[in-house]
Amino acid sequence: MNENKDKFAGYPAFNGVVEEKKPAQILNGTLDSTTEKQETSPAKKHMVEYVQKPRFDKSINQKSTNVRPQGVKSNDIAQKLINSNTTKPVQQKTNLDTVASQDSSVVNNENPNMKKRIFNNNNGNREKNNKNLQIMFFGGVDGIGKNMTALKYGDDILVVDCGVGFPGNDMPGVDLVIPDMTYLKQHANQVKGIVITHAHEDHIGSLPYFLDTVKAPVYASRLTIALVENKLREHPRVKMKSVAVNPHAVVRIGCFTVEFINVNHSVAGSYALAITTPVGVVFHSGDFKIDFTPLVGETTDLARMGEIGQKGVLLMLCESTNVERPGSSMSERIVGETLDKLFEANPKKRIIITAFASNVHRVQQMMDLAKHYGRKVAFAGRSMISNLEVAMKIGEIRYDKDLIIDIDRVKNYADNEVLILATGSQGQASTALSRMANDEFPGITIGANDTVIFSSSPVPGNEKPVNEMINDLMKKGAEVIYDELADVHASGHACQDEIATIHKLLKPKYFMPIHGEYKHLKAHRALAIRMGMKEQNIIIPEIGMVVETNSNLFRRAPFDVPAGNRLIDGESIGDMESVVLKDRLQLAEDGVCIVVLTVNTANAKIIKGPELIPRGFAYNNEVNYLMEEGKKAVIDALSNPAIFKEDSSIIKANIRKTLSNVFYKKTKRRPVIVPVILEN
Ligand SMILES: [Zn+2]
Ligand SMILES: [Zn+2]
Repeated sequence: MNENKDKFAGYPAFNGVVEEKKPAQILNGTLDSTTEKQETSPAKKHMVEYVQKPRFDKSINQKSTNVRPQGVKSNDIAQKLINSNTTKPVQQKTNLDTVASQDSSVVNNENPNMKKRIFNNNNGNREKNNKNLQIMFFGGVDGIGKNMTALKYGDDILVVDCGVGFPGNDMPGVDLVIPDMTYLKQHANQVKGIVITHAHEDHIGSLPYFLDTVKAPVYASRLTIALVENKLREHPRVKMKSVAVNPHAVVRIGCFTVEFINVNHSVAGSYALAITTPVGVVFHSGDFKIDFTPLVGETTDLARMGEIGQKGVLLMLCESTNVERPGSSMSERIVGETLDKLFEANPKKRIIITAFASNVHRVQQMMDLAKHYGRKVAFAGRSMISNLEVAMKIGEIRYDKDLIIDIDRVKNYADNEVLILATGSQGQASTALSRMANDEFPGITIGANDTVIFSSSPVPGNEKPVNEMINDLMKKGAEVIYDELADVHASGHACQDEIATIHKLLKPKYFMPIHGEYKHLKAHRALAIRMGMKEQNIIIPEIGMVVETNSNLFRRAPFDVPAGNRLIDGESIGDMESVVLKDRLQLAEDGVCIVVLTVNTANAKIIKGPELIPRGFAYNNEVNYLMEEGKKAVIDALSNPAIFKEDSSIIKANIRKTLSNVFYKKTKRRPVIVPVILEN
């Protein structure tokens, strides 16, 4: 194993210059010095804890003197310890530093040198002696989205990506899902930097909720920084220190040295990361594909990856989104050729295209085609306009000013003189294309002379709204062309052959599949094993998992970090509790019944009512009967005068319980019951 140690110990900084003091200068970037404000963002108010599942706490760990046997999951051990220690409940808050330092003695038992140092160093801060790198997973491994990983060595933390997830069907009314960042916020002073691989929402979307507490600089490509700045305009109290880095740039961040490597993806300015840590190189793929004929810029930097692989990679984290698809992804150039054919085939018609606004190179392609075919371009939808403005400002896309017309002016042009680029590729309500499909977009009526192109594919979970939109557009007579019909979209994610190429080039000693649902991560693991990796050198990460590694160690740490979903609800004022979510689900499934009654507490009598107002749980033919039964039950429940001496909340609880039982007996449903008691 010494051989390996040497291999990594002397690993030099990459080609670039490393200078700790002035990163902005070596990187041709800008380091904004902004005043730090202690105020919390207004958005923070709407954040609620949804799931938090720390599995180890201090008290449990102190009791533990056992070294965890190989192959036993920390879950099992935690459960055993909890069982043997039932008097102490697992605390919600975990001081992981303490846990980590205590754990280091466990780790160090395996290394006599370390043991000695701990004995000689009785200052209580064992953390410093922990010579393992920890990798912590806050998201991106329990499903698509919400990507966030942290690397920790000693007192230095490097965060990679800070994305959002999208609310599932079990979260009605929730706008955004962000990772639980409790641990990182508690250790905000240790966070030396945040590196963002690319500008997709599932990699940048949570930054406004992270930067309110964590003041470390953000490193990313120029386009990514520009798009993040654009996003932060909606959060004026959140300030960002940013460093724009070019491909090949090498930056020292705490004890880490990060090299940014160009990759192809469906947004420009995407990077993979080679992170030199004190124990070896960690390669993080970001999201990528290998496009040998990209529209703009370079192919994924395979040559550099090969060099890094030659020098030795300790651990690779590689994305898994399309690992189930054989072969290679389609080149972006094919999309251009297909679109060209569609323009040519529709010389008389109006063309409307929807795509991700952040896919600026594809949008560039569409604008070039419009120019070629003598059409003006109109943008419909706020995010389309603001993203393209940002991209144009930094020179990522180029077009003549007179090519663009305001969307209001489309009506002044013949159908075959315009191209409309609209938001709404995911079928979201209130986006431009959705409003057009519903005749709600001023000045634009969809008809038989429209060709609508979906240059996109639905994100998992959005298939239904997208299909509905396609149907609506077709019913209006429009011709609709989408992914399945023609090559109007190319995925930004690597398929099996491309993923295998990366494995071959980087030859990591250890491997963890990331960015995917569990089935994707599992398929990626199988691929790595087929390529000759040892099974024990692969760990499938879970949310909250901490993995520790050094040149000859790779295992799950016996503690987790708090992880799970936090929900952002734009409408709510103040805290939204999980009770609210439960109510929303219940309302949607079982309906509601409002009960109004006026009481005189002094006489212990119901003066008026109860009046029952049901919504959404009883059918017409049963409703009258049900309400009569309900009324009787409420009157019966309040027949004992003693109850009026109780607090009104107790009276309400009584009414709820009574009605709930009646309704459940008759309908097998449990509507939300809202008693309103007026006092006379
Ligand atoms: Zn992603
Ligand atoms: Zn992406």
